[in-house]
Amino acid sequence: MPTTESKEARRSESLREALNRASYEYYVLDRPKLSDVEYDKLFRELQDLEAAHPELRTPDSPTLRIGAEVQSALKKHQHIKPMLSLGNAFNDDELSAWEERLLRIAGDDVTKSGYMTELKIDGTAVSLTYEDRVLVMGATRGNGLIGEEVTVNIRTVRDVPLRLADAAPRERMEIRGEVYFPFDQFEKMNEERARAGDSLFANPRNAAAGSLRQLDPSITASRPLRFFGYSFATADDTLPFDTQEELLETLVNWGVPVAPHRRRCKTMSEVAKWAHEVEHDIRGKLNFAIDGGVVKINSLALQEELGVVGGRDPRWAIARKFAPDIAETRLLAIEVNVGRTGAMNPFAVLEPVEIGGTIVKLATLHNEDLIRDKDLRVGDWVQVKRAGDVIPQILASIPEKRTGSLRKWQMPKQCPACGTPAVREEGEAAVYCPNVACPGRQLEGLVHFTSRGAMDIRGLSYARIQQLVEAGLVKDPGDLYSLKVGDLLNLEGYATKGATGLIEAIEQSKSQPLSRLLNALGVRHVGEMAARLLAAHFGTLDKLAEAPEAEISQVRGIGAIIASAVESYFKDSSARKLIAKFREAGVNLVEPKAVTADGPFNGLSVVITGILPTLSRGKATEVVEKAGGKVTGSVSKSTSFVVVGEEAGSKLEKAQSLGIETIDEAELLRRARG
Ligand code: NAD
Repeated sequence: MPTTESKEARRSESLREALNRASYEYYVLDRPKLSDVEYDKLFRELQDLEAAHPELRTPDSPTLRIGAEVQSALKKHQHIKPMLSLGNAFNDDELSAWEERLLRIAGDDVTKSGYMTELKIDGTAVSLTYEDRVLVMGATRGNGLIGEEVTVNIRTVRDVPLRLADAAPRERMEIRGEVYFPFDQFEKMNEERARAGDSLFANPRNAAAGSLRQLDPSITASRPLRFFGYSFATADDTLPFDTQEELLETLVNWGVPVAPHRRRCKTMSEVAKWAHEVEHDIRGKLNFAIDGGVVKINSLALQEELGVVGGRDPRWAIARKFAPDIAETRLLAIEVNVGRTGAMNPFAVLEPVEIGGTIVKLATLHNEDLIRDKDLRVGDWVQVKRAGDVIPQILASIPEKRTGSLRKWQMPKQCPACGTPAVREEGEAAVYCPNVACPGRQLEGLVHFTSRGAMDIRGLSYARIQQLVEAGLVKDPGDLYSLKVGDLLNLEGYATKGATGLIEAIEQSKSQPLSRLLNALGVRHVGEMAARLLAAHFGTLDKLAEAPEAEISQVRGIGAIIASAVESYFKDSSARKLIAKFREAGVNLVEPKAVTADGPFNGLSVVITGILPTLSRGKATEVVEKAGGKVTGSVSKSTSFVVVGEEAGSKLEKAQSLGIETIDEAELLRRARG
């Protein structure tokens, strides 16, 4: 029979193994298999075991380590001061125990200092080096001592200042903080990935870490990462502030974003009150993930004096971790709706359950593969997570609670709205309804058709489009062009002025260029840019509609996937009927010749990069082309100038290295006016 000691030795060994494996999946692969709650439980168990049996603590124990060893192909960076982790307090008692330890060590100084509380951003830690106020280096935390250099990627993070305000000193210093992925953008990206058949990110934290550690900065630039600062380091420990509170306010004055809802607290009971407010009232309203609050000794001198425990956690700070915003409920049904492009999206109907103060009845399921991977069956008990504005998600089923034999779910073979057999293309996760005239696609399609980047019909809100569809006046976009003022006046909410205005707006949209009409049609994979390329190449809708896939894929910038989608769209008889309606109504089906002989950009080659403040990419291209210029996709010596927006990435770098002029949107518009 094994002795107690060997039992404990074996347990600590297996905990170390499990935690090290989990850390590798979490930090290196950015694909955790364990939930954070499970990880924290095992971690705490190992900590307790090691505290009771110090001889079991090995030098490679995860309790002594920060993050994981750097293993990527990125260059390594040595931090001027270690980037630390944090100890955890899971409830108020553990917070009080932490305070008692501090009081034993530093007595009255703790009371005099008080605490600063901050949100614990669930992102990925980075260190930004500034020299002469200019950002010269960005690095990940890595193992705390050595991180990965991600300077070019960091420059694409929207609110990382490339230059600090004049109030900042010129000496070399590191500003540290968290790069995170906002919830709304995360959800949007995962939906796009699901539609494109790409694997989904498990959560915004992993998406942020994975996006930042890309070898190709243009991928980072395409992800809307954000940043909050919370700490500061210099090589010689000179600090231009005395307290954590001042540190944060000074960062703000230097132009560095700092997370909201921070509070200076005199006592631990004020801290506990703040933590409860954040957990129950604030957390659900944030557009970014937090996994707790961080409590820090406010006096920086006392922070220094208290130092670090075991090389890993500062003694002067602690993470007050929150219970995850998760509830258990029953999966009552899996239903499917049909989006504009025909993508059939499954969603879960749940037994209503309260999560973080909101009643949740529906949850997103993305696609069939996800349902299979999580083995979700109608009737199952499931764990549901809700955070901020994110559509609730099902984390997992709880197989122990499964009663009886539940059937595996299968995607319907037909479109639930029109009964057309559904199709799933190789390599794609989504299943589609191929019927262009599917009523399930109508509404979403019409909303897209009339939107700003498409036919730009002002005055047609979602509700009004719904009203037109419900009244049977409009089935497809072609029907918009046969609407009469009298039709609208028969509907609720229209007076003569509004009805006439709307009919005029519809009339005006007839003269939009072909590129906009192509975008408006909502052909799969064809967005603003592809629509412009196709319109410019083929010139007329008829030529494009007749073109075989092989010819379409010859167009520069158009790949095989788009070409095949375009060909099958125009082969469909309903698409042909729709085009006939446009033709009859006098909708323009031709792309106007762009180049004007005497335009201010005549002969110029322009590159556009990043997100411009007001113009979409398509609109900016239109501006350049109308002024006689040509827009190209990559920067070279023959580029005349580069128009730079937020989150600009490698193209900006390239322009700088080639000494090519960069201008902003306002300057573009000024020059285009000549
Ligand atoms: P941590 O995330 O618990 O806390 C330390 C980190 O918090 C800091 O490095 C910093 O990046 C961040 N932070 C956010 N806001 C902050 C603020 N205002 N002030 C200071 N720091 C702030 O510790 P960790 O070492 O990064 O990671 C350990 C945690 O990661 C575990 O508790 C677990 O939840 C998770 N993890 C999960 C798995 C898994 O498999 N699911 C594996 C490894 C780690």
